[in-house]
Amino acid sequence: MFKKILCLTLAVVMAISMVACKKKSTVDVGHVPNENTLCEEYTVLTAFYMQNKNTDDGSYDSFKEAARLTNVGLECTIPKSNSDFFQAFNLMVASGEMPDIVQTYNATEFNQLGAEGAFVPLNKYFDIMPNFKKILDENPQIKENITAFDDNIYYVPFMPGGTASAGWFIRQDWLDKLGLETPQGAEELYNVLTAFRNNDPNGNGQKDEVPLFGKTVVDELMPLWGARPDWYIDNGVIKYGPYEANYKTAMKNVVKWYKEGLIDQEIFTRAGNPRAKLLGDNLGGACVEWFGSTAAYNDTLAETVPGFKFLPMAPPSGVALQRRPINDVYGWGVSASSKNLELAIRYVDFWLGETGSRLMNFGKEGVHYDMVDGKPVFKIDDIQKTLKAYGSQLDIGFQQNFEYERQWINDIAYEGMMMYVDNDYFAEQFPTVTSRMSKAEVAEYSKLKTDIDTYADEMMQKWILGASDIDQTWGEYIARLESFGIKRLIELQQIAYNRR
Ligand code: CA
Repeated sequence: MFKKILCLTLAVVMAISMVACKKKSTVDVGHVPNENTLCEEYTVLTAFYMQNKNTDDGSYDSFKEAARLTNVGLECTIPKSNSDFFQAFNLMVASGEMPDIVQTYNATEFNQLGAEGAFVPLNKYFDIMPNFKKILDENPQIKENITAFDDNIYYVPFMPGGTASAGWFIRQDWLDKLGLETPQGAEELYNVLTAFRNNDPNGNGQKDEVPLFGKTVVDELMPLWGARPDWYIDNGVIKYGPYEANYKTAMKNVVKWYKEGLIDQEIFTRAGNPRAKLLGDNLGGACVEWFGSTAAYNDTLAETVPGFKFLPMAPPSGVALQRRPINDVYGWGVSASSKNLELAIRYVDFWLGETGSRLMNFGKEGVHYDMVDGKPVFKIDDIQKTLKAYGSQLDIGFQQNFEYERQWINDIAYEGMMMYVDNDYFAEQFPTVTSRMSKAEVAEYSKLKTDIDTYADEMMQKWILGASDIDQTWGEYIARLESFGIKRLIELQQIAYNRR
């Protein structure tokens, strides 16, 4: 009886799904009808998908596996010789010939083109996108972030797994050696960094330690004095950190710390990977960097730097500015001109369901992972690289499962991430305001923002490097920001933000 009902259900589902299908090929992809079947006969959809240039025949193995499961193939339409995404994207738009599915790295532009009729408002098709609808119902903030100014949704974003991305790390073995506690607050941090600078924790008899390093560190110091380095949201009010009075106080402290050698003297000019250099040479004391890759230095430097112990610590200000975005600005959408419109929409939704999601997160069962107690457990080396080569963890619209990352980061990274998550150190995510702006507003916004950000960044570097005195130039700096239109830029973003 059960079997009969299942067959009937499947037949109904398939009858609905197949309306839009057109046979394009007789290729045998090994399809056996199942609950993921999207077409009775094998059908190929076209896609603007940049990463495909890495494969010989324009298709990843993961897409072939999806074809076996759904009976729908995906063919990339970008010439392999084209290496610039935005150039290729603009050429495609200008040609007026859109493939069925289009990848995006720019939500703002994609939403504008969508509003002009190039892409399908996916929200009108939620009845055939049950997986996408479910994700958005469960994550209203993602829905809010990706909704365009005309209240439509034009793309499925990449949705990262986990919240923590980067965090503070400190040489625990140096703290132990000098008899110091993990610093909290500006004063304790100052004292610890000064001790790193003066008391030779690397034991080579030279005052060569670089207490704080990494480009993001200046930003992450700002909240110690209540300031912010960039755009932020304060109880629903959009503010520009470098335009606020407390920024001057914070900057004056950073200038002092830099002058005293507590911050890497080459902070703006150091090329390559500062961690590899400064940790490898046993010089760096603390930084704010990615949990996974930073914690990995404990493994790779275990033999070359005796006693090396670089551990995550709580942000000394209690606030972590860097976090994994709730959704990214990249993903993919469906062309309004697609001849296989409904099929393309269903195909995009396939990658958000249980089978598609597992394929995009973990690869192929039995090859890349085995199911253990209902959970995929990797059985491959070099997980990230192997999966990318297969075509999992691509830059498409899908929901990343944190378990993917959990299985290749070490325990130090994981515990650091959990410390940040459990204590909720994260600052509120700044909303993607531009995706809610009209074309004219975006043009005005972009011009103002470029000038203002460039100027503020230039002054910040001048102050820190000692090329300009902050007390002497602050008044002129504020006046310049105002003449560049800072008030209008804040207003434009506030208007867009209020459109939620
Ligand atoms: Ca030393």
